[in-house]
Amino acid sequence: MISVDAALEQILAGVRPLPGEEVALGDALGRVLAADLVAPLDLPPFANSAMDGYAVRSVDLAGATATQPVRLRQIGVVSAGGVFAGSMGPGATVRIFTGAPVPDGADAVLEQELTDANQPDDAPTQMIAMQEAVQPGRNIRAAGSDIARGTEVLARGHFLDAAAIGGAAACGAATLSVTRRPRVAILATGDELVAPGTPLRPGQIYNSNTPMLAAAVRAAGGDPVVLDVARDQAEEIRARFRAAQTADLVISSGGVSVGDFDLVRQILEEMGQISFWRVKLRPGKPLAFGTLGAAPFLGLPGNPVSSAITFELFARPLIRALLGCAKVTRPQITVRLGASLRRGDRPSYVRAHLEYGAGTVTAIPTGDQGSHRIASLLDVDALAIIVEGEGIAEVDTLVPALLLR
Ligand code: AMP
Ligand code: MG
Repeated sequence: MISVDAALEQILAGVRPLPGEEVALGDALGRVLAADLVAPLDLPPFANSAMDGYAVRSVDLAGATATQPVRLRQIGVVSAGGVFAGSMGPGATVRIFTGAPVPDGADAVLEQELTDANQPDDAPTQMIAMQEAVQPGRNIRAAGSDIARGTEVLARGHFLDAAAIGGAAACGAATLSVTRRPRVAILATGDELVAPGTPLRPGQIYNSNTPMLAAAVRAAGGDPVVLDVARDQAEEIRARFRAAQTADLVISSGGVSVGDFDLVRQILEEMGQISFWRVKLRPGKPLAFGTLGAAPFLGLPGNPVSSAITFELFARPLIRALLGCAKVTRPQITVRLGASLRRGDRPSYVRAHLEYGAGTVTAIPTGDQGSHRIASLLDVDALAIIVEGEGIAEVDTLVPALLLR
């Protein structure tokens, strides 16, 4: 049996990001950059005012105070989107508003609160009393002071959130190069499964893994390709495998254990290749990894909880690697156990709700951690990792946890 870390390492070895494609900025949310985004211009593109006030030459205001102000002649007005056409000589000032280009000749902006100005802006030839001396550069946002032309704004592998889309738009990008979404074939197996919406006959249960895995694929950034459920019959599984092997990744659920009807592993051996089929963890020990055609293949256990956890630990990182994400795994934090837990002979990934206190994060397990308990999966913030061993992990023990949200 191989460890979780060794299994993940094997799964990720040799994964190359998928090729890039151009998408409109409005469609880029949740995608991953396929190429570095380099600023094609300075941000801001021109020196502009950070305040509503008066553009001045700092030398003109030497010694200015509230009681002994310096009076400057207002020779114009400039607001955001406009340009002051002339140049400011000695003794001149231009009324300026936030975001407007700083006029030629000016090297500072004095806030309007530090003047006696209270006149209509269409009276451009008044004398304005300036009540404070200024250093050059005051209230001026220099060209390129935010992001200089030619510098990297976002690196390849960056996950595009709202802020990244704003940054790209500020650089004038109308489209972005993003990695193609991995097409992930999803195959549930089992004679007992019926689709939600159909009445159950005795012995049947609803197929919850397919909708759950499809949603998890989508949330990870992939494109789910849902296959019809395969009965526990070799021919049916072979047919699904043939249909699946053009995907970028194939994920099955069920049929990888040691029962008489656990055919997935046998048929993967026959049609593809198996690297390992058991991992040292709880829940989720029977996990097959191999290849089917050119596609990596993950055979998840059928128990919904085991399916969910093994997807999280192995399939999600694989999808993120196909997307070229800079970071494929979840952040690991330290949490305080909010309940005692019995240790087992394998590391346990305990589903937990997090409570945030002053300086501590407490993990409250979601009740009985049986791998059939769908209830234990609901409203989960983190997986607390309880290493194997004897006895009990007591309340207040600090343990590592994977932060899921
Ligand atoms: P298996 O790994 O095929 O032996 O299945 C283990 C357990 O998970 C059994 O109780 C199955 O009924 C259940 N199971 C398997 N596949 C699914 C599925 N797609 N949805 C819900 N439960 C499932
Ligand atoms: Mg089964």
